Amino acid sequence: MSDTPSAVRHYGFAGAGLSCAVIARELAEAGHRCTLFEARPHVAGNCHTERDADSGVMVHIYGPHIFHTDDDEVWALVNRYMRFMPYVNRVKAVTGGRVFSLPINLLTINQFFGQTLNPTQARAFIEAQADTSITDPQTFEEQALRFIGRPLYEAFFRQYTLKQWEVDPKDLPASILKRLPVRFNYDDNYFAHKHQGMPEEGYTAMVERMLDHPNITVHLGQRLETSQVGQYDHVFWSGPLDAYFGHREGRLPYRTLDFERFDAEGDVQGCAVLNYCDDSVPFTRITEHKHFAPWETHARSVCYREFSRRCGEDDIPYYPVHLTQGDDVLKRYQALAAAEAGVTFVGRLGTYRYMDMDVTIRAALDAVRAFRAARGA
Ligand SMILES: Cc1cc2nc3c(=O)[nH]c(=O)nc-3n(C[C@H](O)[C@H](O)[C@H](O)COP(=O)(O)OP(=O)(O)OC[C@H]3O[C@@H](n4cnc5c(N)ncnc54)[C@H](O)[C@@H]3O)c2cc1C
Repeated sequence: MSDTPSAVRHYGFAGAGLSCAVIARELAEAGHRCTLFEARPHVAGNCHTERDADSGVMVHIYGPHIFHTDDDEVWALVNRYMRFMPYVNRVKAVTGGRVFSLPINLLTINQFFGQTLNPTQARAFIEAQADTSITDPQTFEEQALRFIGRPLYEAFFRQYTLKQWEVDPKDLPASILKRLPVRFNYDDNYFAHKHQGMPEEGYTAMVERMLDHPNITVHLGQRLETSQVGQYDHVFWSGPLDAYFGHREGRLPYRTLDFERFDAEGDVQGCAVLNYCDDSVPFTRITEHKHFAPWETHARSVCYREFSRRCGEDDIPYYPVHLTQGDDVLKRYQALAAAEAGVTFVGRLGTYRYMDMDVTIRAALDAVRAFRAARGA
């Protein structure tokens, strides 16, 4: 649907990741001019993929990204720009020197406890281990103990969580471990969504196609500064919320990731993602990128060891840190953002939320539609 030509506007964007790409495309198709600034030398934000010149492997530069969703409109949108190849994420985990299947399922339970339980027996077995004195779990630890009991919690979650967050699971909210993290069947598909797949030519090619429109201009390697916001009819800001306000209320805490790359001949670990749960291993997981494209064949392999640590001022912010106590600084920034008339804060950094790609796209669609509806009114 086009807006009337007399109402053509010029919109500015901080970032060319999924959030801004989706919003810009909608506005461009409605006849408006969109100018995107992207600090990095490429589009697609953290979903960026790049074909490795040496091995030919498509590498997920900022960590592994698997597309999965129940949202039919979002699935149709991504398929409009890229063919999605069938892909099922099957994660393995090393704990106590042995390899298990994740998420915890009947195979994990039987192998971990040396049993041959059927689903009904396994359910009763795990319930007997659960701490039923916890009626209203508030923390990550309480949630885990309530639903899976101590042995599985200690083996798969406690040390891994400490490595990932550097925070005791007692101080993390229960919401991080959202659902019952155990299945009483042999289903090891990590995601329980209707649609799952991998973009055939990578996420960056998909976002480049979204941005390929005569009304869209992208400036790579250039930041949009807060001081430039007034040059546009409106700005969509997918950069860090606190950075927009010059960190005047303090810095919002993030985790950052370090990826230690190593290359090898052949097949290194036989799967895309292998988690390391024990604290005797300093990294959280190894990603072997070629397994994300099972329809391709490569003799060589590119792997990432992934290390998590507190985000410093010059690091890339990856995961927002929400503790059970104290989001006061965030609330002050949210109040400032709500009062900023010419700017809409979007995306994982602009709204300080971890969002999967499908949630990011849904939020971007909702934001641009609400914006246009308000303008129309
Ligand atoms: C390690 C990791 C693994 C993930 N795995 C999955 C997965 O398997 N499946 C899934 O669905 N989701 C996954 N995600 C989530 C996914 O990365 C996000 O949903 C998505 O990247 C959000 O897009 P965005 O546009 O909001 O933000 P981003 O991708 O962060 O894009 C924002 C862009 O804005 C740029 N920028 C910021 N400030 C400025 C400025 N002032 N001027 C110019 N440019 C600026 C940044 O350089 C960045 O490129 C994962 C996330 C992480 C961290």
